[in-house]
Amino acid sequence: MSTPYDVINPSTGRTIRAVHHASLEETDAVIARAHAAAPAWARVDPADRGRLLRRFADVVDAHLAELAELEIENAGHTRGNAMWEAGNVRDVLHYYAAAPERLCGRQIPVAGGIDLTFQEPLGVVGVIVPWNFPMPIFGWAVGPALAAGNTVVVKPAELTPFTALRLAELALEAGLPEGVLNVVPGEGPVVGQRFVTHPHVRKVCFTGSTAVGKRLMALAADDLTRVTLELGGKSANIVFADCDVDAAAAAAPGAVFDNAGQDCCARSRILVQRSVFDRFMESMEPAVHAVRVQDPSLNGDADMGPLISDTQRQRVRGFVEDADSAVQIAFRGDAPDGAGWWYPPTVVVPTGTGDPLWQEEIFGPVVSVLPFEDEADAIAMANDTAYGLAGSIWTDNLGRGLRVARGVRAGNLSVNSHSAVRYSTPFGGFKSSGLGRELGPDALDAFTETKNVFISTAH
Ligand code: NAD
Repeated sequence: MSTPYDVINPSTGRTIRAVHHASLEETDAVIARAHAAAPAWARVDPADRGRLLRRFADVVDAHLAELAELEIENAGHTRGNAMWEAGNVRDVLHYYAAAPERLCGRQIPVAGGIDLTFQEPLGVVGVIVPWNFPMPIFGWAVGPALAAGNTVVVKPAELTPFTALRLAELALEAGLPEGVLNVVPGEGPVVGQRFVTHPHVRKVCFTGSTAVGKRLMALAADDLTRVTLELGGKSANIVFADCDVDAAAAAAPGAVFDNAGQDCCARSRILVQRSVFDRFMESMEPAVHAVRVQDPSLNGDADMGPLISDTQRQRVRGFVEDADSAVQIAFRGDAPDGAGWWYPPTVVVPTGTGDPLWQEEIFGPVVSVLPFEDEADAIAMANDTAYGLAGSIWTDNLGRGLRVARGVRAGNLSVNSHSAVRYSTPFGGFKSSGLGRELGPDALDAFTETKNVFISTAH
């Protein structure tokens, strides 16, 4: 039996509308539809599959503003971000629309015949999406999975189902056959977990917390279901004295407060070389005060919206206001009072590298800053974390930039920039930040099995 679930606008705390959560039986029925649709989708000619994905991208493009409005209301994303996110779905679909015609196998020299490899689709792929970036994370899995000839079942996060539901409608409008792309709103432990335990789902892409990711990986072992895990992060922003310190300070707030800090790549630990620590803090303070925290549906130029839920806000408060020891707040910006799950951008100086503020993923607009001595110290401090997703290095010394980038145990590094996510380059984490890579030219490897065929020339 399905149950209604009230979806809330985080800027107002008011219900938008209820969405029906699928039961186990309903989930199984959708997986059965995806399974039934898989052979025909895998047989669609490569050029036609590419054409359908391009058409899907074009239909998404024609609905960018509508998709962005849904996300502004449902997730409190700023207008600029929401438009970028919808455009990212379009761009990922366009990028992987080229893939069906380039899914080349190999011809390997062997004795007595010819040896060929084929990249075969897996069948049904399950995608479990979190609430922080509902559209991009949907697109990063759905685009390459469909291009490789798989059918897909998607479970959006309970808090943010609307854009995924609309994207599934747009896919049908673009001409994708029924059953190829399916969206099943529901609870993680019901719908999401069923994706992992159902024998017809051959691969699961999970993005979310490390705790749930580990549990799903253990469950996946039963059927040897493939998993890609994109998990948490506590990424370092390392500022060397030889960089343009003012530029680094001006860029630091955006690197952590974007999406209200609810970003697995948030540069939530700032490491500043001791000789420029005070100057960096002085320079960052006005940039933090300048962050406009506003209801994004009323203010098109808001820089930051609310947190996604009251639960998330309580969690963030727990690290700062409710912590056992008094937390040293260096400075903080403003946030609206009243309804909605608001929290101001906050800069703290932790007691040391063992402080939970320095070690734990807060997933909110809180950044910790500590000084370091030299290059070796910076690398050691950056690596002193369970996570390894992203990081930034600010230096005018190219050799140092490369040395430190190679030294930090994380999947996505940038030098003199905080940008490390592009659909054309690989994305994923080391250590507790995950397993496998999404995006980039090799993403289809994660959605195909390699089949080897030997043909004898003896007869
Ligand atoms: P979460 O792990 O609770 O939920 C993520 C998704 O998993 C949701 O769709 C949820 O319904 C589902 N889920 C929950 N329990 C499940 C279960 N037992 N079986 C199957 N599915 C289940 O995390 P969250 O609260 O949505 O997101 C915040 C966390 O996710 C943070 O730690 C953040 O860093 C991480 N995250 C990582 C990335 C990344 O790319 N590495 C991206 C976004 C979020």
